[in-house]
This record gives sequence, structure tokens and C-alpha cells, in this order.
Amino acid sequence: MGELLRERIALIDAVDDVEVSGSVRRRLEVIGNVNLVVSTRQRAVVVAELEKIIAELQEIDDATLKGRARGEMDVFVHLTKPAEFGSTLFRTTGSASFVEAFGAVLKAATEEQVFEKREIAFVEPERREDGADLKLKRRPRLVEPSQLRGTFHVHTTFSDGRNSVPEMLTAAAQRDWEYLGISDHSKTAYYAGGLTEEGLKAQQAEIALHEKSVAPMRVFRGTEADILQDGSIDYGAKVLSTFDFVVASVHSHFTMPKDEMTDRIVRAMDDPHVTFLGHLTGRLLLSREGYSVDYDRIFDKAAERGVMIEINGNPRRLDVDWRYLRRAVDRGVVFSIHPDAHSIGEYNAVITGTWVARKGGLSPKHIFNTRGVDEVEEVLKARRKRKTARKQG
Ligand SMILES: [Zn+2]
Ligand SMILES: [Zn+2]
Repeated sequence: MGELLRERIALIDAVDDVEVSGSVRRRLEVIGNVNLVVSTRQRAVVVAELEKIIAELQEIDDATLKGRARGEMDVFVHLTKPAEFGSTLFRTTGSASFVEAFGAVLKAATEEQVFEKREIAFVEPERREDGADLKLKRRPRLVEPSQLRGTFHVHTTFSDGRNSVPEMLTAAAQRDWEYLGISDHSKTAYYAGGLTEEGLKAQQAEIALHEKSVAPMRVFRGTEADILQDGSIDYGAKVLSTFDFVVASVHSHFTMPKDEMTDRIVRAMDDPHVTFLGHLTGRLLLSREGYSVDYDRIFDKAAERGVMIEINGNPRRLDVDWRYLRRAVDRGVVFSIHPDAHSIGEYNAVITGTWVARKGGLSPKHIFNTRGVDEVEEVLKARRKRKTARKQG
């Protein structure tokens, strides 16, 4: 919503510059209002134009207007002169505690100058929830959406997706991805069209039929397998060993007590077929609390077993919560950014997923799918070999 407003305001002739600020710019997962900074030398002209774009617009003070968007969300417009655009952007981006930790904000035309004038290294907006990064000697180099070279956890019409295998493949190839991991639901998730062994055969035949048309993109065959109530993985070893990768996810019995739920997930990660742990807490923002888990035990197990944890970028999930990411990477856990796409449009969830990673302070080296196809294939193969070795031993 902030971005749409920004685009419309940018079209006003008398507007010098416009940027989204506040919690939207900090990529906070749940926002209470939208803030925009608008610089102009013709205040009155701009206010008259803004009234055509933003409903219920009223002046709060000399520098601030307040209105409503879509009848539900407060919009604040911060008017400023071009020479103070940067300092206004900085102050209204917040957070309040970051700005306080930063100290004096000198007038500046760009935000970079706000930092330069105080000889402080730039802190990305996502990292401004508190002043912690100001104390770091070196800022983390945050992962960018363009650095993702492929992804996993993609559904098709074989389970509950809305686009077919060829549609999902073609749309992925158009994003210049080097690889794509298809993973429809497993058979216990019958309510989500989970595939029986027969269904799997048909799905894999369909992938084989179409994958050549998207070459050189590689298509990995996987499943989003249910973590059953006792922590075992749906399908069992024989079927699981046929996949290139397995996303293991909890889809049932959400209300188990914290210890039992943690035991269940930890046990699932002991299964050598599991490549990724899917949506760690199952939360749905603003509608369903995640199941309660002991993060430290899960991170320890993931590091021990080399199971990668998914950052589910679906905007309704954004699961794992960014606040826990550093704790995990400090233990050696590797993350992978997945869209959990049920349509070609939902591939965009890798972008929101990357925002989560950035907010958590993660760099490309912490994210599995910033690696190229050869390295990814090698890792997946090595994990498959390990399974065989365990079986023989
Ligand atoms: Zn799922
Ligand atoms: Zn899914």
C-alpha cells in the first residue's frame, strides 16, 4: 500500500522527492500505519494534489498531514524542503529507539549524508529496530533478493497449487533461476490434495515431460512431507529416499504442549531424509499463533543434523520470526528462503522472505539458495549418500 501511494505521489509535478518511511520501510511484519516523506518547494500545490489521492486528509501540524488508505489504515505524510529530505526520512523511518541511540540528526538532503555528517557507517532501514548495529565495528552485508539463484517448496495442481507443473516451471525459468524444487503435499495431507504413491508417479512423469523445455534450469523432485504426530515423516523411508529433497512440515495437532511439539520436530530432524524444516512455527500473522517450540533445541538439532531451516516468505506466514535468526546462525544453522508458492504470482514471496532474512541480519553466506546449481546439487547428493551409508551401517 505504501509503495502504491509513493508511485502516485511521485507523479505530482510539484513533488521533488517521495519515499516510504516508518515501519513499512523497516520491513516490520505487522504495521500499524503508513508513513511517507514528501519534499517540495510548493507546499500548497502539493497538499491540494494529495487531497485527490488520500482520503480524509487533514493537517496535524505544519509538517504533517494525516489521512486514511482503503478506509482502514492511517497514512501520515511528512512534508519537507528538499534540503531536509534525508534527515526527515531518517527521523520518520525510526524506530524511536534507534533514532535515540543515534543521537543528533543534522539537516541533510540525503539519508547517507545524515550518517556521513556524524561519521557513522550506514545502517540499513531493516536493521533499525534498536541501536544494536550502531555498536558493531562492521555492518553485516545483507542478502539481496537478486542474489537468490533458485528456490524450493513449490506446489502445483497435483496437490493444492493453482498452476500446473509446466506453468510453474516456465514462470520460474522466466525469473532466470538456475534451479527449482517442486514439492507437493504428502499423502497424510489429504485435505490439501496430498499425493498418494500413485499420484507421485504421475506428478514425476509430468515433471519429466516438461523439464527439458525449461533447460538449463534444473528441476529437483521433492515433497512437503507431513511431520506426523509422533515425529515420523509421512511416506516412510522407501518412498522418501526417491526424492532429491524433502521439506518436513507440521500441518496437524497444532496445540501440543511446547515440550511435546519440540520433541516431535526434533525427532523429525533425526530422519536422514529431511533436507529442510518447513514453516517452523506454523504461525499465520494476525490470525493464528504459531505452535510453541523450544527454539534453542530445534536450532541445536538442525546444526547437529545439517538440516536447513526454511524462511517461509509467504506474507501471511513470514516464519521463522526474524528475531530468532541470529541465534540460529551463531550455532551454524543454514537457512533457505522459500516462497511456499501455490501459484506463479506467489513466487514473489521469495522477496518478502528475503526481507525477513535482512531484518534478521543475515548475509548471502547464511542462505542456501544463494548458491549456484552445481553446489546445491552436490549438497543434496551428499545428503542422499549419507542416508544410504546409514542404512548399510
Ligand atoms: Zn506447509
Ligand atoms: Zn507448502
